[in-house]
Amino acid sequence: MHPGRLPAWLAPLLLICGGLLGIALPLSSLFWPGSLSPPALWLSLCLDLLAAGALIHFARRSLQREAGIDNDNIVRSAISARGAVAWLCALALTGLYTIIYFGRQLPLGPSKTLHDWMAAHVYLWFSPLSQALRAAPADEWFFYSTLYTFAVLVFAARMLLKYRHNRYQILRTISVGAFQLGFGYMIPYLLIRFQQPEHFFSYFWPLKAEYLAPDHWLPALSQGAQSPALWFLGFGAMMSFVATPLLTMRFGKRWYCSWVCGCGGLAETMGDPFRQLSSKSLSAWRLERWLIHSILAAIVISTAALWINSVSGGKLLGQFSGVLANAYGFYIGKIFAGVIGVGFYPLLGSRVWCRFGCPMAAILGFFQRFLSRFRITTNGGQCISCGNCSTYCEMGIDVRWYAQRGQNIVRSSCVGCGVCAAVCPRGVLRLENAAMAGRLATPPMVELR
Ligand code: SF4
Ligand code: SF4
Repeated sequence: MHPGRLPAWLAPLLLICGGLLGIALPLSSLFWPGSLSPPALWLSLCLDLLAAGALIHFARRSLQREAGIDNDNIVRSAISARGAVAWLCALALTGLYTIIYFGRQLPLGPSKTLHDWMAAHVYLWFSPLSQALRAAPADEWFFYSTLYTFAVLVFAARMLLKYRHNRYQILRTISVGAFQLGFGYMIPYLLIRFQQPEHFFSYFWPLKAEYLAPDHWLPALSQGAQSPALWFLGFGAMMSFVATPLLTMRFGKRWYCSWVCGCGGLAETMGDPFRQLSSKSLSAWRLERWLIHSILAAIVISTAALWINSVSGGKLLGQFSGVLANAYGFYIGKIFAGVIGVGFYPLLGSRVWCRFGCPMAAILGFFQRFLSRFRITTNGGQCISCGNCSTYCEMGIDVRWYAQRGQNIVRSSCVGCGVCAAVCPRGVLRLENAAMAGRLATPPMVELR
């Protein structure tokens, strides 16, 4: 049956059943332990109901309309225009991050933390899956990464339906989904299952700061060339210092930010309904440049300090390097990247972390701006100034400003998502990798008399 002909009540019914079951699972373990057994069956039922409800909802909505962007109601909707539903979602997301990051420090009684409660009543439902994948009970990180991957895959289906007319969007959505499922979820856990060090092959320094830290490298080096950890870290270093510059010079930062990275993967799938919330103001652009480069400087200094301290046996910097690394991990790694970066999707847009905070994006942006073949060309004569491109640029770039002038867009922050081109009704914009010559040229002004 065509999904558009499915009854309107089916998707909400499945979502409500899945949601109620999600609430019932911890309650059952609290009041009637063992009543819902086996846990794998009930968790799978819960996730299946949620996924089926979401997919039917997306399919009904998308297939009843034209492919592509739909401006209807976008500035009035309670979810996409910072209404009550958006605030509730932001509250739920920031709450989730608080539980994951700080649950072990939050007391819930004399000898109990929030983490203990979550482990006993929530994480345990994920343990059968965790045992199957990594031969260990579920903890907060397994719980989080499972939900994260689930969200990327379910909302990737929404992207595929919405942009079904656009090959670029289809391919990069499949790419981010596959990278998250394979490199951001399955492979690191299967490595643990086979008694190898956990490693995320799609994250590199400086985004994954610990992959260049001495407390990872020195034990691996001491084990010699037979240590898989050394090969994994070596791969990461090669990606950071060799492959990243070369790939960015060839393709722009899009090869990573819109095709590989898990943070970008969530932004491009679950974050898509919020992309229009990114600020296009000049002050946001100024803040972006200061903040992202300051955070890059902080991680470079922090990594250098850790090595200096390690090599000097703690004589040169004392406690400083540890304090700096911990502060970076807390304020940037947890508060900025997690709580604000994802928790505030419904209020600030989907790429707050990528735009204002990610040190990897800062490096990629440098190569893209000055050394890359990538640019977005604009056929200014065709532009009707509708503003769709600027509205839906998740990085806050005023694309229309360039389009009206027929000027190439060569901005360090552009992640090459291609949505500006996909939503342009006139085919004005084109993402290209071409010769460097003329890339930064300003078109001649036409004077009207
Ligand atoms: S300018 Fe276009 S391709 Fe670049 S981030 Fe904005 S919407 Fe995406
Ligand atoms: S480039 Fe396309 S989407 Fe942007 S303002 Fe012009 S016509 Fe509209």
